[in-house]
Amino acid sequence: MSAQRAIRITEVGPRDGLQNELVAISTAAKIAFINALSNANFAEIEVTSFVRADRIAQLADAAAVMAGITRAAGTVYSALVPNERGLDGALAAGAEKISVFVSASESFSQRNVNATIHECLEKLSLVVRRARAAKLPVRGYVSCVVKCPYDGAISAEQVREVCAQLLEMGVTELDLGDTIGAAVPDDMDRLLAGLQTLAAPKDITLHLHNTSGRAIAVAERAIALGVVSFDCSAGGLGGCPYAPGSPGNVATEDMLEMAARLGIATGVNAEHVRAATDQLRQDMVSARAQR
Ligand code: MG
Repeated sequence: MSAQRAIRITEVGPRDGLQNELVAISTAAKIAFINALSNANFAEIEVTSFVRADRIAQLADAAAVMAGITRAAGTVYSALVPNERGLDGALAAGAEKISVFVSASESFSQRNVNATIHECLEKLSLVVRRARAAKLPVRGYVSCVVKCPYDGAISAEQVREVCAQLLEMGVTELDLGDTIGAAVPDDMDRLLAGLQTLAAPKDITLHLHNTSGRAIAVAERAIALGVVSFDCSAGGLGGCPYAPGSPGNVATEDMLEMAARLGIATGVNAEHVRAATDQLRQDMVSARAQR
């Protein structure tokens, strides 16, 4: 079915997973989780987000987590930053790559960050310029690339327009998010065709949510179309608190199982992922019991 023999996996559980879990996890437990994930040999781990503590209390210890982890050779340790202040924090903490985010949907942008897409892009251009000047690669997340909880279907042209501006400002990786997990496999054909002259499938990362139970089927189609880079979250941790009814980052374990079934290499050790997830679940149970 597929011409791809290997895919690249970015583990986003420590950031995208934990930021959306309601139980407060201790800094020590987060560090232990990331260290356990590091044993699994991911291409990249998105460690945390340098956001204001009053916006996302779960990640208020971003600097301490970055400082506390033991970095494995061969894994890139990245951090999400919403603005220049966040970038300052990420640079000081030694992030090896940063991620910025913008929505392809106008309504989602305004409800999620209280700013228009244009305003977000303007603000991000400064962040991206400084990160590139510091020689860091930059991932540009684009949310709601298939459907928005407020605006409904999002056209490939809308996605293309935002992606074009991200590339123009110096973003090195486009990461397309199906934020509410609404995609069906055919959406990948439409989406990737729309981006054709801008970015090849091999240069695009997909961030799928399994809300409707289709993330793996969508990923399989994307692989057949040439996509080789995916985000996923150990144990399927997290979702999106700003998008009603959209729990469920696609689970790393499910992606690894699919890759193994198709004979596609990931380089990731599934046993170590399972161990990391089990350990975190125990820490979450303890944290709940202590409340
Ligand atoms: Mg997500």
